[in-house]
Amino acid sequence: MKDLRRNLWNADFSHIYIEKRAVNHPNTQKILSHFSKANLIEIDHYKDVFCRRHQSFSLQKKSIKIILAVRNDHFIYEGAKPCEDFGNAHFYYTSSMMNCIYNCEYCYLQGMYPSANIVIFVNIEDTFEAVKKLLKKHPVYLCISYDTDLLAFEGITSFVREWIKFAKNYKDLIIELRTKSANFKAIKDIQPLENIILAWTLSPDEIIRLHEEKTPSLQARLKSIKEAMENGWNVRICFDPLLYTKNWKEQYESCIEQTFEILPHHKIHDVSVGVFRVSKDYLKKMKKERSTSKLLAYPFCFNDGMASYSEKHAKQMINFVYEKVSEYIPKSKIFI
Ligand code: SF4
Repeated sequence: MKDLRRNLWNADFSHIYIEKRAVNHPNTQKILSHFSKANLIEIDHYKDVFCRRHQSFSLQKKSIKIILAVRNDHFIYEGAKPCEDFGNAHFYYTSSMMNCIYNCEYCYLQGMYPSANIVIFVNIEDTFEAVKKLLKKHPVYLCISYDTDLLAFEGITSFVREWIKFAKNYKDLIIELRTKSANFKAIKDIQPLENIILAWTLSPDEIIRLHEEKTPSLQARLKSIKEAMENGWNVRICFDPLLYTKNWKEQYESCIEQTFEILPHHKIHDVSVGVFRVSKDYLKKMKKERSTSKLLAYPFCFNDGMASYSEKHAKQMINFVYEKVSEYIPKSKIFI
């Protein structure tokens, strides 16, 4: 019966929806070449599938589908308030993909999107044009892997590669690529660029096992980071979001020790530290999707439309992690 239940799900990516106007785009053809057995379904607009009513994010996570689309507008967004700008005056982000192959229990995407299916906007060249326009006005700090994990999907899209190629010609552009993957190998052959920061989110092993489904282990992430650093890339470490669990102190202490035992800490670009925080509205939907989650059952405090831990717990966690990290990294390089 257990096997039968398991087999009832279609495999991930068994179906690929393609907007009619995306069919002939070279990136569509490139992506489809990885899925020769998928059922292809032409659609008019990605929202016809992605934004349908009454979808279940958590059920769709068990059998993810891909939607290939063309983005018309909103290529770049101003950086959101809860996100760290690392001292950059002109902070933006862009999403060439929506949704992620991982399934973190605390992921805000389950509160933000009506569907867990992955949308890939194939016309990345139009985003490049939008960045060029912005660069005519001022320098740009651009996060390219929010609302997804671009490096985890690099084998399918090659978008990271395209971004690096683009960034080579624009010294006033600083790009942050955030990931939980252990997939540095996908870009290993590329020469590092000074204006690209590879940012890894790290969590203690127990948290990965219990709350970050499908993500690589801490050891696997550290191995990937070490390789990136040895190849000369700027690396940012993010202990963010810190999660309030029963034995968080021991867990984060061991995670930080393991991290700096393996990585040459004097070469780390910087470190960010932050507790779990999410928009109040997203939290409501997240709790509905994960009604049995202890992590989301915390009695959150609300401030300015955001939900997070109580001031006492947030301070305890940040101070503890900040002090631990500062044993290895100068305080000027730690962002809270
Ligand atoms: S890696 Fe990030 S984007 Fe992906 S599921 Fe986890 S929290 Fe969400």
